[in-house]
Amino acid sequence: MYVSTVSEHLQSRLVQYYRWLRNHGLNDSHSGNASVKIGEEVWITPTNACADSLTEQQLIKCYVGKPPTKGASSDSTLHLKVYEKNPQTNAVLHAHGAYSVAITMDGKDFYPIDFEGQYYFGEKITVLSVPYRDQFTKAHELAAEILAEKPIVIMRGHGVYAQAESLQMAYKWLSSLELSAKTTFLARQYGFKGDPTLL
Ligand SMILES: [Zn+2]
Repeated sequence: MYVSTVSEHLQSRLVQYYRWLRNHGLNDSHSGNASVKIGEEVWITPTNACADSLTEQQLIKCYVGKPPTKGASSDSTLHLKVYEKNPQTNAVLHAHGAYSVAITMDGKDFYPIDFEGQYYFGEKITVLSVPYRDQFTKAHELAAEILAEKPIVIMRGHGVYAQAESLQMAYKWLSSLELSAKTTFLARQYGFKGDPTLL
């Protein structure tokens, strides 16, 4: 009789969450990436992964404290650094939520205006401004520093990285931030000019 293992279950869930990010408009067909830690192993989506067709068999196995395995996502260095710096982290997700990116193009830290955004993320969400040419080097270092302490960080003009103790929570952070950004965007369209730090 075939008995599935915990690791197979988590790999399956990883593919599912990566696909949900795409299905709910937080990524396009191939953007973003995702990983889950199982012991010292880290399973990461491959370079150029397509969320619509990705399978568990295509995931790449890496190890905490070692260089990324060939074929793993080009953001693998960032993922592995987060696991190394934050022992509580079991999942890292990355998405290109359009509202989150659009509303932070000024490079200023983001203050959600809605209650839930402030409740979950505290008073502000860090926005890192890193030249596009340094997105796979300097940006990885800086984002990992933030994610050692915080659940989420925004990379200006690029996207959002979230870390959590579970895939579900990392998914929640990305989803919640995108809705806060959309709400803030719409409120500004309707003329809201208040200071979100005073709400
Ligand atoms: Zn990206």
